[in-house]
Parts: sequence; structure tokens; C-alpha cells
Amino acid sequence: MIPITKPMLGENEAEAARRVIASGWTSQGPEVAAFEKEFAAYVGAPYACAVSSCTTALHLALLAAGVRPGDEVITVSHSYIATANSIRYCGARPVFVDIDPATFNIDPVLIESAVTGRTRAILCVHQIGMPCDLAAVCEIARRYGLAVVEDAACAIGSEILWQGHWEKIGRPQGDIACFSFHPRKVISTGDGGMLTTANPEWDAKFRLLRQHGMSVPDTVRHGASRVIFESYPIVGFNFRMTDIQAAVGREQLKRLPDIVRKRRELAARYRTLLAKVPGLGLPTEPDWARSTWQSFSVRLPEDSDQRWVMQAMLDEGIATRRGVMCAHREPAYPPDTWSCAGRIRNRSCTEEVCRCLRHSEEAQDRTVILPLFPEMTFEQQDRVAESLQDALRVVTLNE
Ligand SMILES: *Cc1c(COP(=O)(O)O)cnc(C)c1O
Repeated sequence: MIPITKPMLGENEAEAARRVIASGWTSQGPEVAAFEKEFAAYVGAPYACAVSSCTTALHLALLAAGVRPGDEVITVSHSYIATANSIRYCGARPVFVDIDPATFNIDPVLIESAVTGRTRAILCVHQIGMPCDLAAVCEIARRYGLAVVEDAACAIGSEILWQGHWEKIGRPQGDIACFSFHPRKVISTGDGGMLTTANPEWDAKFRLLRQHGMSVPDTVRHGASRVIFESYPIVGFNFRMTDIQAAVGREQLKRLPDIVRKRRELAARYRTLLAKVPGLGLPTEPDWARSTWQSFSVRLPEDSDQRWVMQAMLDEGIATRRGVMCAHREPAYPPDTWSCAGRIRNRSCTEEVCRCLRHSEEAQDRTVILPLFPEMTFEQQDRVAESLQDALRVVTLNE
């Protein structure tokens, strides 16, 4: 069986977790602080704050950016559902913009038509590791005074050509970037997330909110020689990362350059292996972006059935996934909970097919994600390519 992904975890991570458990301090403490420092240095960010997941990171980012009930946040429907959910946690309304089918990322040309008097922020996504067109997003945001929050869940190690220099995603080029350490992402701590920003007030806010709104963290009280009483100026959350997770994360960071190199090598190899498959669409990388290829997503030929192709590959022991979901098609998103750029004034777009988001829906229905993980062998990759070609050939023969 060839899995869709496999996190690269080994003895170093196991030893790191053992060391923390033996130390007796397992909750958010010195390991989290060290992980934050090392992560900030890796992406080149002034501040990094660790939390329990990317979902909680997105929630805190939007709160810090001032998103309140009744506000609107511009984003994509074509993303993991956590992106849109984070907007609704704030009592705000997601305004969905369609994607550019070539990159699976927000189409910057459509953003401006989604801006209204209630728009507070743009929550853009570096989908499956591919940087979105941040230069265009940031330009529009500056013009309208909007915050830019980057959902960089899959983009740890991705790079963007920014004002003439290659920079890591998360510096951040927008206002706040949010990362995930779920096992499906580029590096993993089991679960976990990180926020990066250049704004010290926002960083302080993340730290307050992640720990119950507690004015003096327990780490400070623990090391103090005088008695300190904490207070709770605001209603916060428990969004902490544990020291066990952070110790694993520090080991994962050491592997990250090799992981990204290997992923990029395998993606380039897929491109060569699949170049001549008739009608198959391969993902493109703009010349200003370097993806981690968290997922390698191919667009099936016009006449092929997605489920049938995936089943044929599964029958040969190869796991695949369909294209990234669309939040607006889920029961949790009835039509009164969101808008799309073309629907704000035109309420006719509530039928089963929303024309405003047709590229998003088409990407979900017509693409298939192929296995890609750092320890994948070339032999395994050859098998995936052959199996996909066989499946597509049978489809054509059936006609
Ligand atoms: C995985 C993912 C998330 C959620 O990350 P968690 O750490 O699991 O909360 C959010 N946004 C995108 C784009 C993702 O791929």
C-alpha cells in the first residue's frame, strides 16, 4: 500500500519527547519558548507564538486583527473548512472569492469586487503549499485599510520572491501568518500551530488569548522570587501547545530543509513522469513562488470520472484524495452564512451550482491528489504514475 502521506518522525523526536516527560514539565514552558525562537529564525519573523493548531492560530489572528461580529472577511471557499470556520468563530461573515484554476489560489483580480464597507480583513491561503499572489493581495489590502492574515497551514518552508528577494512564507509578508503541525502537513508535532507577525502588540495579544487571558503567565510566576497574583483582564482560551509537542517540533525543524528539498524533487519527477499523459493537467508554479508541494494535485481529463479513477488506483494499493474541499458546499454553510463576490447584490446564486465559485467547485470535482512524502521511493512514484495512466486509459477505452 502506498499512503497519501507519511510524516517523517524518528528516534530523535521520540528521544525529545522522552526528555521532556522525564523533566517533569510537560505543559507550555521552556520547550515552547525555544521552538518559537527557532521557528521565528527559520522564517525570518520578528515574533512567533505557538498554539494548539492552525485553526486556533487563525482564530486568534482574526481577533487580533480586530474582526468583530457583523464584519466581513474575504477568503476562499476552496480550502480546508477550518479557514472559513475561523471567520465564523469571530461572528463574522466569510465572503468567498473564486480561485485561479492554474494555482488553486485566490484570484486577485476578483478581490476588489468583494470589498464592502464591512470588510475588515483578507484571509488568504497558500493552498497545499503554493504561495498565493501576496503582492496583489497586500496592495489591495493597503488601499482599503484591511489586515492580511495568511493561512500558511501547508506552507512551512515555502518561499516567495518579495521585493526582489526570496523570502520564507511567514516573515510575514502580510500582517500575520498561521501554520499547522498536523501530520498531514510538512512537519508535525501531532497537532499544533504557530502565528508569526512583526507587530509586538499582536504577539502580546496572542499570548494573552492562548492562555485564558491570564495577565502573568505561569512560567513567570514559577521563576519569581516574590509572590505574584495573576489577573484576567479579558476572556481568553486554552489554545496552548505542550512542551512535549514543542520538543518534537524542534527536531522536525532540523529535518525541514531536507524534507522540502525531497518534496520538491519528487514533485519535479512527477511532472516528468506525467508530462505526456493526454489531457492531464499538471500544477503550475509561478516564477515568483517555490512550493513545499504539501500536495501534488493533478486535474483529470475532461471525460474521466474522479471517483472511478481513485477507486482503480486504490484497487492497486495506491491511496489518493480528491481535490481540496469547498466550504460553501457543506451543510454547515447554508446560503445565509456566507457571500461570494458576485452574490452580494445578486441573490440568485443559491442554487446547487454557484457560478461565482465555479473554478473552486471544478477543482474539487476534477482534481486528484497523488501520494507524496519525503521517504517515498522512485519505484513507488513510478507505480503511482503507471497506475494513474492505466486508470485513464481504461476510461478512454470504455467510451
Ligand atoms: C490543515 C489546514 C488547516 C487546519 O490546520 P489544523 O492545524 O489541523 O487546525 C487550516 N487551513 C488549511 C489551508 C489547512 O490545510
